[in-house]
Amino acid sequence: MGSKNKKVEITPRRRFFTNIAHNIGLGAMGTLLWAGYVNKAKSSPLTLRPPAAIEEKDFLKTCIKCGLCAEACYNRPQNIDKEGNRKPGTLKMAKAEDSVTIGTPFFVPRDVPCYMCEDIPCVPVCPTGALDVNKVTNPKSGELDIRMMDMGVAIVDVHSCIAYWGLQCDACYRACPLLDEAIKLVYNRNDRTGKHAFLEPEVNPDVCTGCGLCEKACVTEKPAIFVLPRDVALGKAGDHYVKGWDKKDQQRAGNRANEDVTTHTERSSKKAVDYLNKGVEY
Ligand code: SF4
Ligand code: SF4
Repeated sequence: MGSKNKKVEITPRRRFFTNIAHNIGLGAMGTLLWAGYVNKAKSSPLTLRPPAAIEEKDFLKTCIKCGLCAEACYNRPQNIDKEGNRKPGTLKMAKAEDSVTIGTPFFVPRDVPCYMCEDIPCVPVCPTGALDVNKVTNPKSGELDIRMMDMGVAIVDVHSCIAYWGLQCDACYRACPLLDEAIKLVYNRNDRTGKHAFLEPEVNPDVCTGCGLCEKACVTEKPAIFVLPRDVALGKAGDHYVKGWDKKDQQRAGNRANEDVTTHTERSSKKAVDYLNKGVEY
């Protein structure tokens, strides 16, 4: 009993060591919080940015996290429901719990897709050029053109898309604002039944803007069509390949097709299999 009520005397020496322990604790806590922040501050390669966003690494340096784009998106007149209430906007400013650089704008199509507003209100308000109005301006007419938006590209998971199972579903096709251009339904014979046709959605990445209306509309539990940033979703063949059947691509070759091109590498006398299996041990 006596020891319970014993008053602890705080000597200057004890106070000194208590303060050190206290400061070390605070320091460790600060380090942990900072490490968490830095982790969150790293850019995620799967982040979908607002329309006309410049390349991700430049975007992160240029965006001042002012939120004007998200505000313009939220306040657009179309963003009001039948009862007159404002709906959540497409663009969100990343919080600590989002896997996106804190304070930067992004969107998640399954929550709220981009409605591809004709006047693209989110872009011209950007004060820094992180959203570059030129990227969505038609160079000939000088007018904003929603078809030039490039938030990402929709990808179909053919294993979970029920249309690829042979069930009738055209939810994504109908939801697409660029109907029959960005998504087409391709007819294929269903050999399993021998009577029915598959109506398979196929995305044209040259037309798709990545608005995500298809992802929002998809009827499967986890969307079978979803938007990814273009550089994540698409491969790259290399600029030295030119499609002979594509007039636009042909222009890249310019007049080179008319040039007399000589190959200087000597033709190999070996068989093709010798070359292909070179260095392979069995
Ligand atoms: S274009 Fe998309 S992101 Fe921009 S204001 Fe409209 S809905 Fe929002
Ligand atoms: S308006 Fe521009 S600078 Fe401001 S948060 Fe949006 S992208 Fe960043």
